[in-house]
Amino acid sequence: MTRDLWRGSIGCHTLPEMLTFQEARGKVIEQVGKRKGPRTTTVVSVWDALGLVLAQEVRTDREYPPFDRSTRDGYAVRSSEAAPGAHLKCVGEIKAGDTVREALTAGTCLQIMTGAAVPANADAVVMIEQTSHEGDFVRFERPAQPGQNIVPRGSEAASAQTILTRGMRLGYAELALAAQVGAVHLECAQRPRVAILSTGDEVVLIDKTPGPFQIRNSNSVSLAAQVRIAGGEPVVLGNAADRIEDLGEKIERGLREDALVLSGGVSMGKYDLVESVLKAMGAEFFFDAVAIRPGKPAVFGMCQGKPVFGLPGNPVSTMVTFELFVAPAIDLLSGADARALPLVEARLAEATKEKPGLTHFLPARVEWHGTVPEVKALRWQGSGDIAALTKANCFLLVPADKEKMEIGESVSVLLRKDVV
Ligand code: AMP
Ligand code: MG
Repeated sequence: MTRDLWRGSIGCHTLPEMLTFQEARGKVIEQVGKRKGPRTTTVVSVWDALGLVLAQEVRTDREYPPFDRSTRDGYAVRSSEAAPGAHLKCVGEIKAGDTVREALTAGTCLQIMTGAAVPANADAVVMIEQTSHEGDFVRFERPAQPGQNIVPRGSEAASAQTILTRGMRLGYAELALAAQVGAVHLECAQRPRVAILSTGDEVVLIDKTPGPFQIRNSNSVSLAAQVRIAGGEPVVLGNAADRIEDLGEKIERGLREDALVLSGGVSMGKYDLVESVLKAMGAEFFFDAVAIRPGKPAVFGMCQGKPVFGLPGNPVSTMVTFELFVAPAIDLLSGADARALPLVEARLAEATKEKPGLTHFLPARVEWHGTVPEVKALRWQGSGDIAALTKANCFLLVPADKEKMEIGESVSVLLRKDVV
């Protein structure tokens, strides 16, 4: 078996020439989504659940807020009595947490703090800034509206209402809501285990001194980080030599996990064997080229029931193609929907000129000086230039049909989620 033989049957006959990145991403979502079965779950403390996907519903333990709650420091009043120029006798105070038993009597007001319960018969809270004190009396300066500065009991949620649902990703707000209702342990989907296998005869361990023409395995490090950010559990398998037997053995090992991500070995070179080895192991491919730069030779298939990604080995290509194609698969394998790409619109601050035909993802910096974000591509030496990427907080998208883009044009940028 040679790679060229397989490339013929994969690249030319059964697959369309080249997909756009949106189409390729759509294939991943379609294929991995089809296999979205029940996930293994695990019960996790709310302190440790950040980034996990919820596998249960969470309901309120009571109404929220549980009482009519003041949103200001001020005075609880009957709004009809607190007209401009009116004086009301202040007969006490209510702090947050105080038990409020007594109703407000006519002609009086009660000093009240933010978060405290509004007494019965009071229908408004007047901010302290809009009043003045005269002995035991409070003078009001503006008309009070019924309901002002009060969040009514039960207005945020009813009792036993579902407030978090299966498939939701737990960020800090979701965790706070779980904590608010006393859900201190949460049933979550287990993080999908994503095998990472780099390939290449030139690749050495990161703690070794490379020979003059060797390189350290930085891709395994960036991929592990990207898997973590995407919500997966990286399983780093090391590096496979550009030999069919070594690749076969290590791919076999990788297929024991929920998904397999390879770097390198998917271009047109004589030693780019990944696709042919996968094919021999029964893979079905959905794309093996995408109309993007960097990242054109990216491969996606299903092999023995597992999603497999062959990402090109140049570090920036590996990073970009991971974000475009692997991240949504990890979402789906976690029991969540695929998150949209973090694309935003910006104003181009410097003209660009790129070869048409491919969508370019150029390392760039977006800055928010005025009301409209401004973006500028950074100088770089191509897809091997990791140093350039460390100065970037996004990728500037140059559409395939655009050779030139002028200053002031409205453009799309793909944010780097880890630094923005
Ligand atoms: P390939 O896609 O296998 O043709 O690899 C393209 C280039 O990417 C190689 O020549 C290396 O310079 C670089 N590369 C490949 N694998 C790695 C890796 N694991 N870590 C860092 N760079 C890599
Ligand atoms: Mg290689």
